[in-house]
Amino acid sequence: MSLKQISSFAAGQWVAPGAGARTIASAITGEPFATAGNDALDVQAMLAHARDVGGPALRRLTFHERAKMLKALAQALSERKQALYDLSFETGATQKDHLIDIDGGIGTMFVFASKGRREMPDGHVYLDGDVEQLSRNGTFLGQHVCTPLQGVAVHINAFNFPVWGMLEKLAPTLLAGVPAIVKPATNSCYVTELAVRIMLDSGILPDGALQLVSGGLGDMLDHLTCQDVVSFTGSADTAMKLRQNPVIVTNSVRFVAEQDSLNASILGPDAAPGTPEFDLFVKEVVREMTTKAGQKCTAIRRIIAPEAQVEALIAAISAKLAQTTIGDPRLDGTRMGALVSNGQKADVLAKASLIGQEAQRVFGDPDAFEVVGADAEKGAFVPPMLFYCADPDAARHVHDTEAFGPVSTIMGYRDLDHAIALANRGQGSLVTSLITHDPEVARQVVMGAAAFNGRIYINDRDSMQESTGHGSPLPHMVHGGPGRAGGGEEMGGVRGVKHYMQRTALQGSPRMLATIGRKWIPGAPEIQGPAHPFTRKFTELQIGETLHTAPRTITLDDIEHFAHFTGDTFYAHMNEDAAARNPFFPGRVAHGYLLLSFAAGLFVEPNEGPVLANTGLDGLRFMKPVVAGDSIKVRLTVKQKTRRTDEYGEMRWHVTLTNQDDEKVAEYELLTMNAY
Ligand code: NDP
Repeated sequence: MSLKQISSFAAGQWVAPGAGARTIASAITGEPFATAGNDALDVQAMLAHARDVGGPALRRLTFHERAKMLKALAQALSERKQALYDLSFETGATQKDHLIDIDGGIGTMFVFASKGRREMPDGHVYLDGDVEQLSRNGTFLGQHVCTPLQGVAVHINAFNFPVWGMLEKLAPTLLAGVPAIVKPATNSCYVTELAVRIMLDSGILPDGALQLVSGGLGDMLDHLTCQDVVSFTGSADTAMKLRQNPVIVTNSVRFVAEQDSLNASILGPDAAPGTPEFDLFVKEVVREMTTKAGQKCTAIRRIIAPEAQVEALIAAISAKLAQTTIGDPRLDGTRMGALVSNGQKADVLAKASLIGQEAQRVFGDPDAFEVVGADAEKGAFVPPMLFYCADPDAARHVHDTEAFGPVSTIMGYRDLDHAIALANRGQGSLVTSLITHDPEVARQVVMGAAAFNGRIYINDRDSMQESTGHGSPLPHMVHGGPGRAGGGEEMGGVRGVKHYMQRTALQGSPRMLATIGRKWIPGAPEIQGPAHPFTRKFTELQIGETLHTAPRTITLDDIEHFAHFTGDTFYAHMNEDAAARNPFFPGRVAHGYLLLSFAAGLFVEPNEGPVLANTGLDGLRFMKPVVAGDSIKVRLTVKQKTRRTDEYGEMRWHVTLTNQDDEKVAEYELLTMNAY
C-alpha cells in the first residue's frame, strides 16, 4: 500500500515529503500509514513570508475584520467535519474523542470570533485598561495599549489534539493580527494537514497568514527575533530544550509552554458514598481516564480522597472501568481507542511500572485485556490502569511521573490540609478539581491550592448537569499552569490574544491619546457638528462631536413629583432634617435618577432618526448633590464607535452633568445603537 504523503505549506507552496521524511504508523494496526517531513524545507523563507507578507496583510485588518475571518474559517471547517473525523480514527481516537478535538477546536474558534467582535474594538489598537490620571489638571495622561507583534508565531503542538491543539492557538494569534507557522506533532500531523488544507482552500486567509510544517522544524528557532512568539505544547523535556535555545534566550523571544502536568481531583470530606457528589466524582474520574485513552494534558493523574472513602472509591471506579470496551475506535461499541503510537504505548507502560514501584495496581492488567476488532499486539492499545498508593507522603513518582495514557493513582488524605498538600506536590498543574457540596471546603482548597494551579474546577449536585468537565479547557478561561505545567497561559478570552501583542504604556496629552486610541478622553478637543448628534447617522458622527445643552433648574416640586410618581420617597429626598444629619447631604437633595431623566430630556432630539435604541449606561458616578434651586446642564460627546451589524453600530457617548458653578454633579457613558 502506498503511504499517504503529508505535505508542508511553505511560502505559498505545498511541499511534499522528501529527504529525511518520517514514517507514521496507524495507531490501530501499527502498520505504516503515512510519511511526513522534508529536510530541504526552506524555513527562513517561511519566516520571511510570514513577516513580510502575512503580518502586514493581517495588521491592515481591524480586530472585527479578523474576528469575522475566524468565524468564516470555523464555518469552513465545520462543513468538512466528516472528512476530519474519518481521518482522525487512524490516530486511535473514537467518535467521542473527535467531538473534543475537532468540534472542540472549531467551537473554540467561534468563541474567539465572537469575543473579538464583542470585547475588542473595531480598530487596530487595543486599549488595555482605563486612562491613568498622571497630572493635576488632566493635560498629561497615561493609557496602556496593545498592538500586534510584527513577527511570526511558531506553534509547536502535541500529538493528542491535532485539530483543537492547532485552533486554540491559531484563533487568538490571527485575532491579534499575527501570522502563524504551525508545526503539529508528526504522529498525528495528517489530521492537522487536512484542517490546514480546508482553511487555505476556503480562500479566507490572506497570503502568508498560515503556514504548516509537517515533520521536523529544522533550524527555524535559530532565526527568531524579539517580535516572534513560540507557543509550545508537549513534554517537559522538549520544552526545556527549546526554551534554552541561545537565540530564544538572547532575543527574549516569548516562549509559552504547556507541558506535563500531574493534575489532581479531590473528593471533599462531605462527599461520602450515597451522596450525589460521590457518584459525580466517580463519573468524572472514569471519563478523564478513558477519554482520548488518557492522552489529555488535563487528565486526572492523582485521585485524592478521604482515607475512609478510598476502598469504596476503588470499588466504584473499578466497576465503571470494567465496562469500558477497548478496541477499534471506528466500531460503535468502542468506548476507548488506542494510544497514538506503539512508541507512546511503550512510554506509558514504562511510566506505569515506575508508578508501580510506589503504588499497587488495583485495576487493569496490560498483559491481559480484551481488544475488540483490532489486534492488541499490533495496535497501540493499553487498558485503563488504576493504582493505589498507601503512603502518598513518602511517594515521589506518583507526584512527578506523567504516564500519558489511561493511568491514575488513588491516595487517601487525613484532613483537608493534607489533601491540599498532596495536590500541591504536583509542583504546578493545569487543573485541580474538587467535588464537594460545601462552599467552605471549596474556599479552603482555593486558598491553599490556587497558587499551584492554572484552573480549579469545582462541581457538585447544583452544577453537575451543566458543568463542562474537569478535563475541558474552555476558550473563555485561562489554560496553562505554573511550574511543571510549563508556566504558560493560553486562551482565557482576550487575555490569550494579548500573548501575541505588545503592551505599551503611552503617556501624553488627551488629544494625543484620544486620536491614537480612537476614543475620546475628557480634555481632548470637542468638535462642533453641523446638526444635533441624534439626527446624524453612525457613519457621519465624528469622535469628539459634542452637544452642550441649555440649563434646567431643579425645583422642590420636581423632587416631590418624582418621589411620588416613582415611589422613591427615600428620606434624603423628602425630609430636610434627616437629610441634613447625613454626612453626604446639605439637606433634601434631588434623586440621582431624576438628574439622569432630566439629562435625557435636555439632550434628546425627539423625532424619528438614526438613534434606534438606548442599550445601556456604564460607569455612572454621582459626584455632587443637587438641591432645589440648582440648575444642571449636559455635555454629550461621541466617545467611541463600534460597528455591530451591516445596518447599525454601537455609539458610546460621554455624558457629563454640571451645575450652575460648572461643578460636575454626575458622569456616565451612554450606549445607543445607531443606524449607518
Ligand atoms: P514532545 O515534547 O516530544 O513533542 C511535542 C512537540 O514538539 C511535537 O510537535 C514535536 O514534534 C516537537 N518537537 C520535539 N522535539 C523538537 C525539537 N527539537 N525542535 C522542534 N520541535 C520539536 O512530546 P510528544 O508529543 O512526543 O509526547 C511525549 C510526552 O509528552 C507524552 O508522553 C506526554 O508525557 C507529554 N505530553 C504532554 C502533553 C501535555 O499537554 N501535558 C501533551 C503531549 C505530550 P515531532 O512530533 O515531530 O517530534
